[in-house]
Amino acid sequence: DYENGGYHPVSFGDVFHSRYFTMRKLGWGHFATVWLAFDTRERIFTAIKIPKSRQDFIEASRDELDILQVIRDGDPRHVGAQNVVQILNEFEFFGVSKSLHLCMVFEVLGDNLLTLLRRFNTLNLNLVRVVSKQLLQGLAYLHDECEIIHTDIKPENVVICLTEGQLRNLALEAYSSRLWDKKPKSMISTSPEEYRSKYILGLPSKKRKHIRRIRKKHRNKVEQFLSKLDIADSPPKKQIENGTNNANDRSDFSYEAYNHISSFYEELQAGNLGALKNCTIKIVDFGNACYIDHHYSDDIQTREYRSPEVIIGCEYDTSADLWSAACLIFELVSGDYLFYPEASDSDNYNSDDDHIAKIIETLGPLPVRLFRDGRRFNDIFDKRGKLLKIKVLSPVSIGELLIDIASLPGIEARDLSEFLMPMLQYDINERATASECLKSKWLKLCEIRGTTKPKRRDTIELV
Ligand code: ADP
Ligand code: MG
Repeated sequence: DYENGGYHPVSFGDVFHSRYFTMRKLGWGHFATVWLAFDTRERIFTAIKIPKSRQDFIEASRDELDILQVIRDGDPRHVGAQNVVQILNEFEFFGVSKSLHLCMVFEVLGDNLLTLLRRFNTLNLNLVRVVSKQLLQGLAYLHDECEIIHTDIKPENVVICLTEGQLRNLALEAYSSRLWDKKPKSMISTSPEEYRSKYILGLPSKKRKHIRRIRKKHRNKVEQFLSKLDIADSPPKKQIENGTNNANDRSDFSYEAYNHISSFYEELQAGNLGALKNCTIKIVDFGNACYIDHHYSDDIQTREYRSPEVIIGCEYDTSADLWSAACLIFELVSGDYLFYPEASDSDNYNSDDDHIAKIIETLGPLPVRLFRDGRRFNDIFDKRGKLLKIKVLSPVSIGELLIDIASLPGIEARDLSEFLMPMLQYDINERATASECLKSKWLKLCEIRGTTKPKRRDTIELV
């Protein structure tokens, strides 16, 4: 994909926009690669997202940038402003063959909830409370303050913030492992060496000299900054020494930053109150977001988190995000999707048929009057409003699912189900808003009981 119109090849030490010194790759998606970079002007670490440069990607980047600006310009005093990723800067450059990349600069964040779910299967109930509360705060900010619908709420798009110490260790490690190893490692660069050498060697020698000079100047600034950093009290314990580290040390060094972050997640999962209080989550990925009064697409949301109005092809609004949020919270507690639709060729139904059937099994009959105008209504229902393809249903309530799948005690299952049901109302006008959900008793329940049996005073501050 590192070709004309695709990803831009990046390697350690590239300088973008005369200030961002790249240090390692943080992630990638269908649309972009994301890099840890030191901002030599503000002297902070940042994440720069470099989208592909084909015309349709450029247009999508423009829409995403617009939305991110609205989010940045919302009232910072809103309690949910801290639970949505904030763009710090933007810039553009011409990459290979003069192709345009519209880049975004963000604060550096940590792992997403899917990573945590894969690791722990299900999350500690108090951690789920903390996460749910912040997710709803973030949604309240997006909906009420920014008038934006995210449209793709799911575990991948909710991330845990790094603490300052974790970020420092990550950066030190990225920098020092590079100094040990002059060849690009996969962690540091994805650019196929051959392609890169073609790209760089293709430049006039004057330009190559200029690039080298810039890199050196910025590298000195980075080294200066890093050499003054204290290593956080957790690993890694060894300080970089201007590139003179012993290669033998590398193997036990390069996982230290990972261990530091990893042990934090273990404390969260153990319900450690100190860790829970330090835990901040943010909603990310506005690549599919839209405005309340201007939608870009009718087909929104990732399948398992898709609301009935979207499946059937009716109007949707901010309440679509609340449906997805309920599916997400159920999944954190149970380790399973709330709805997992499957198509069947032999029984001649598709995922939409199965999805609606599973929703009805869990939430009861669907009021046909609400959905009759939907574009796909006649594909899924007959004239009397009965499912066309699937005749046999086995009803099971959310409460029962929470007892059976999530193994919650009856009383916990009942409380959680009371919290989730308002988000799963069929009528989008009756579905609870994020601000309404924030008043829910369930979010405060750990004051009374919780897996950690906390002291009352501690837990009141927790959420
Ligand atoms: P795409 O639009 O291509 O899916 P994303 O915005 O989802 O791009 O970013 C791709 C990946 O990069 C994410 O899944 C995540 O792992 C990582 N990432 C994105 N933003 C950040 C950030 N601010 N800090 C750290 N990692 C990030
Ligand atoms: Mg993504």
